[in-house]
Amino acid sequence: MLVIERSNSVLSMSPKHKPAAHAKNGDTVVFETFDCFSNQIRSNDQLFSSVGWDKINPATGPLFVEGAAAGDILCVEILDIELDTQGVMAIAPKMGALGEFIEKEVTRVVPLAGGKAKFSDKLSLDVNAMIGVIGTAPKTEDIPTGTPGTHGGNMDNKRIGKGAKVYLPVNVDGGLLAMGDMHAVMGDGEIVICGVEVCGKITVKVDVIKGKKVPLPLVVQGGDLMAIASAQTLDEASRTAVKNLFLFLREELKMSYDEAGMLLSVAADLRTCQIVDPLMTARMEIPLWVLEKYGYKMF
Ligand code: CA
Ligand code: CA
Repeated sequence: MLVIERSNSVLSMSPKHKPAAHAKNGDTVVFETFDCFSNQIRSNDQLFSSVGWDKINPATGPLFVEGAAAGDILCVEILDIELDTQGVMAIAPKMGALGEFIEKEVTRVVPLAGGKAKFSDKLSLDVNAMIGVIGTAPKTEDIPTGTPGTHGGNMDNKRIGKGAKVYLPVNVDGGLLAMGDMHAVMGDGEIVICGVEVCGKITVKVDVIKGKKVPLPLVVQGGDLMAIASAQTLDEASRTAVKNLFLFLREELKMSYDEAGMLLSVAADLRTCQIVDPLMTARMEIPLWVLEKYGYKMF
């Protein structure tokens, strides 16, 4: 099986990056990933400020998928995720949604064992391994891996875990897929700008879909289809996520405006992915069983 070692990492999604590896359509590929601190913080006495900005949010890749041409969709199915035995949280004043209340830098190593993340002596949480950064290259721009967008990137969507199918645009030949920034557990919002940050291995299957024109990125996971959008404000991101799912229903189910609008109002949920990255990210989720009532089967 093709394995991309974590030494092949990028700090931007860019059409200019030389591929770290080539895969065929339908191949299974393993991405070994750093945590968002490039694995530089391993103990409680190492603080966020000890990590240079040139080490924040690395993504492993990019992978060139043969047969993927501009205008196609790349479906990345997350087959498996393997995490390290510890994750880490590192906070600092002025960072995240509570920055003004955070008085000093604090690092907390979080042991991971038996499917649990030991947050404190009082509290262990179920591990919900997720991928913070996953995306393809934009057409011409060079977008930092810390920024989300229509190409994917730092969406910090906690639904992107094992079993998820992530649909990303192919903007340049080969797609140039990269991913990293895994979290062992994270709440919607990512309030202090980190989850339980962790390195590991992600096994994915890559498939090229041709001839579909729908708003992206989309994710299917746990019986839900979701449209994801990022923007300067959460309001704008939310409205775009809603609109993208609406346009998806129009395009794929040929639903009338009235029907699609009413359906989204009663059967779909608007949720927040994160409010701490350079752009805010929202997702609009609808259960697949609802779409199946209309005879729809996800492509
Ligand atoms: Ca992130
Ligand atoms: Ca992160």
